[in-house]
Amino acid sequence: MDARGAVGSWAAFFWGEPLELPPELLRAYPMLAQAQWRRGGLPPRVGGWCLGRGTVAGIALGRTVFLAPHCALDPWLLLHEFAHVRQFAEVKAFPFRYLWQSLRHGYRANRFEQDANNFATRILAERSSYL
Ligand SMILES: [Zn+2]
Repeated sequence: MDARGAVGSWAAFFWGEPLELPPELLRAYPMLAQAQWRRGGLPPRVGGWCLGRGTVAGIALGRTVFLAPHCALDPWLLLHEFAHVRQFAEVKAFPFRYLWQSLRHGYRANRFEQDANNFATRILAERSSYL
């Protein structure tokens, strides 16, 4: 491996690889194009460690969503993570509030998780009513 390759694989270790969502997914859910998508890297693993698992399926940091290396591109999951991207943009000090919610109420009862679940479920339901 040459020096550039080594730097590249270190970068991939931390930040994963850029991921292009399939065009049919973007046609169905155009809002997903507002986020940057990556696969792998450290963030999904750190998120998993916080929950006592090896990895989480996805984690949003700012406008970027990191997906676990082998997780399927499930529309519900992508919409859920996109909801967190919106929370990052709309809620002041979002990471701290998110942590505070998790500490007080636990991961599942965290209001931001519930909002993201509701968003994903609503968009899927709206879309399936057109089909
Ligand atoms: Zn979530």
